[in-house]
Amino acid sequence: MNSGVVTSKKPSSVKQKIVVVGNGMVGHHFVEQLCQSPKRQDYEITVLSAESRLAYDRVHLSGYFAGKSAADLALTTPGHYRELGVAFELDAKVVALDKDEKTVTTSGGKSFSYDKLILATGSYPFVPPIEGNDREHCLVYRTLEDLAAIENAARQSKVGVVVGGGLLGLEAANALKQLGLETHVVEFAPQLMGVQLDKPGGQLLRAMIEDLGVNVHTEKATKIITDGEQCHHRMEFADGSHLETDLILFSAGIRPYDNLAREFDLALGERGGIVVDNHCQTSDKAIYAIGECALWNNFIFGLVAPGYKMAKVAAGHICGESGQFTGADMSTKLKLMGVDVGSIGDAHGKTPGARCYTYENQVAQTYKKIVISPDGKHLIGAVLVGDTSDYDTLLQYALNGIELPEMPESLILPSLQREKPGLGADSLPDSATICSCHNVTKGDIITAIDDGNTELKQLTACTKASTGCGGCSALLKNVFEAELDKRGVEVKKDLCQHFAYSRTELFHIIKAEQIKTFEQLISKHGQGLGCEVCKPTVASILASAWNDYILEDPHIPLQDTNDVFLGNMQKDGTYSVVPRIPGGEITPDKLIVIGQVAKEYNLYTKITGGQRIDLFGARVDQLPDIWKRLIDAGMETGHAYGKSLRTVKSCVGNTWCRYGVQDSMSMAIFLEERYKGLRSPHKLKFAVSGCTRECAEAQSKDIGVIATEHGWNLYVSGNGGMKPRHADLFATDLDDKTLVQYIDRYLMFYVRMADRLQRTSVWLENLEGGLEYVKSVVIDDHLGINDELEAQMQAIVASYQCEWKTTIENPEKVKRFRQFVNSGQSDSNVQFVTERAQIRPARPEEKHPGERIPAVDITENRPV
Ligand SMILES: Cc1cc2nc3c(=O)[nH]c(=O)nc-3n(C[C@H](O)[C@H](O)[C@H](O)COP(=O)(O)OP(=O)(O)OC[C@H]3O[C@@H](n4cnc5c(N)ncnc54)[C@H](O)[C@@H]3O)c2cc1C
Ligand code: SF4
Ligand code: SF4
Repeated sequence: MNSGVVTSKKPSSVKQKIVVVGNGMVGHHFVEQLCQSPKRQDYEITVLSAESRLAYDRVHLSGYFAGKSAADLALTTPGHYRELGVAFELDAKVVALDKDEKTVTTSGGKSFSYDKLILATGSYPFVPPIEGNDREHCLVYRTLEDLAAIENAARQSKVGVVVGGGLLGLEAANALKQLGLETHVVEFAPQLMGVQLDKPGGQLLRAMIEDLGVNVHTEKATKIITDGEQCHHRMEFADGSHLETDLILFSAGIRPYDNLAREFDLALGERGGIVVDNHCQTSDKAIYAIGECALWNNFIFGLVAPGYKMAKVAAGHICGESGQFTGADMSTKLKLMGVDVGSIGDAHGKTPGARCYTYENQVAQTYKKIVISPDGKHLIGAVLVGDTSDYDTLLQYALNGIELPEMPESLILPSLQREKPGLGADSLPDSATICSCHNVTKGDIITAIDDGNTELKQLTACTKASTGCGGCSALLKNVFEAELDKRGVEVKKDLCQHFAYSRTELFHIIKAEQIKTFEQLISKHGQGLGCEVCKPTVASILASAWNDYILEDPHIPLQDTNDVFLGNMQKDGTYSVVPRIPGGEITPDKLIVIGQVAKEYNLYTKITGGQRIDLFGARVDQLPDIWKRLIDAGMETGHAYGKSLRTVKSCVGNTWCRYGVQDSMSMAIFLEERYKGLRSPHKLKFAVSGCTRECAEAQSKDIGVIATEHGWNLYVSGNGGMKPRHADLFATDLDDKTLVQYIDRYLMFYVRMADRLQRTSVWLENLEGGLEYVKSVVIDDHLGINDELEAQMQAIVASYQCEWKTTIENPEKVKRFRQFVNSGQSDSNVQFVTERAQIRPARPEEKHPGERIPAVDITENRPV
């Protein structure tokens, strides 16, 4: 169905007809704003969309290549519009506008009369006028249809080029990389993200992106695109150099869709854009323009937050409110291919008299700069690359004119003695903007709380804060909790705006009500469509509770990329293959198979700290075949990609070692076999040592077991890694059975109680009562739940399945591993070189730009 017809109680002749042209993010936001107005009943709303589906999240479009579907990106549904009483037509491009008759006509010939017309037609990607720009597989990156075309072209390509090194260009480059192409970015300017970053920031970003395997070419002006020798196309540059590629994505800026205004005589800017005033009215007062098609103060805002502000102002103005659009903040914080980048205000320090402080750490690859006003009192700009942890604080200083501390540099310098000046919720003035997408201030939040919205769900529903890009969620939560605290209200630990429950509460709900899917849970106990926080959290709870196959259709959209492809994506876009080797013990026959597979698929092999063998460099389409070989030889998945048990490290114990007092090998293998299928809030690592000499380093693991003369000592919540923590001794001299009982209970209690992404170490440290409390639960059955915890663990153990085995036995599931892959007989797109007789990803300077060089050839031809 491509239209929604709505009947209403009030006679339509009494109502004003509002016609919205364009149902992108901003057009949709306008509809939502008007629908929330107390005067909603006075209007009949019709939406005309040129696209074949209702609004979707363009900001997170790249998520499509990480496994998100069109439904995941949808901002609304036909059913929802019908519920709101909004009529809509899809595939309905408006081609004519009659300002005197007040009608618009679609390409299908249908006419609609209006009292107020809203132009929310957005923009389209600019394709530079280069000869050859219309050749096959020369594409843009704007709509879901564009993504399908890119995906299709990528199947027939090995090399991809993005023309444009701005924010969107780098997003597009990420997409090409995710599709497995050798990726290049060609930029006309001397640096990447020239609008948002200064020169050193741009340089660091370039270096980091090149490290990730993307080739960057700056100061390149493309003259012509012709036939290539190695690839479909050859791009000739003005400096005489060239680059060969199979696919070209143009991302060289946007142009407003202002053709209706142009053809039907509304005022336009010199370089395009529909001119609007502070009410977002065009030169015809019955017509408004909002979003990326609108030109305010000679400026087009290419971000969603300003568009949302315009939508709010226009809806308010139609309803008789006095709000005005007075510009918008263009600060941005984002992750580009895993590199954190932030830019605030006058990033280039162009304000006369402005001064700046910079901090650069070449070892940690971070660059930070703040720009301060000529009087030194206020922050007016900032650039952050590699570490954006200071972004929220800096943004508050900049947006709210907060006076800088005595030493402004302390805001970006590392806090060696933790003396870094914080900007807690209390120090923000009421005028502080908390959510810039929806322009919600701290004062608005306080008013909403005073009006009785004392749950985060209610607060976000009524203020809309954090429902845009979501960047302010953490700050919103801080302000909310600080305000509730002041009022003596107990703070609820809501998971996010879609669920007014903590992770622990959701776990109980899922278990008690036997809920098996995210859809069931959100429709019964949540609201909206879900987000990056709640979807993987619920996926993890469902897995811990029911141990379903994680690639069942309803679960797929919830998983992160690693889980979707049952492998860890590496920096060059290939995947690792990690079979389980319980306790680090492996037969020669299995070793031989691993060696044969590694040789045949030209994989890099490495023995890990967890005592198993990682195989690196597999393309996504090779994964099922590789796994079939390993599974046929009796191996199974090592869950290296999951939030679950990784390894149980072990020494040889009393079987071989003369100091050993127990059989640590057998115990380690038993424990690994027992807990290998358990999904948990974060990864789990175990170790078992055969005596107190502790060769297996058990005291740095989540679960550590050390043999004694009388049995086993159990250690818990240790951690290596970034925040090392020595494990706590939990119980001593346990027999085998008690040891396993305690571990069952401890782990299940953690799985139930911990927050999302909380390791056992952090969980224990944050738990009220700490170690003694957990001991009272696990050892003394203080809560009377031990039978339940053990039964639950037993159910997990009994329902274990190797996810890779299940996958390769199901041809439909195997297809998932082929959808982004190049044509059948293709070689790897990633370039490798040989080092110490094995492959490794080529560094940028080692690559052969434009050449398609099969990985095997390089390996064999390069000197070791
Ligand atoms: C890959 C990508 C990543 C992005 N990342 C970010 C980000 O991180 N942060 C950020 O703030 N912004 C980002 N943006 C920009 C953001 O998506 C836009 O600012 C926002 O979508 C603009 O909304 P809009 O409604 O004005 O325009 P659009 O979303 O373009 O919607 C306009 C709609 O109108 C339709 N239309 C056009 N002409 C007609 C007609 N004559 N009749 C009927 N319908 C018509 C179009 O088909 C389209 O569906 C990103 C954009 C892209 C493409
Ligand atoms: S501050 Fe934004 S820009 Fe930010 S979220 Fe709020 S939701 Fe968005
Ligand atoms: S921990 Fe003890 S038993 Fe194990 S290898 Fe070391 S010395 Fe031997």
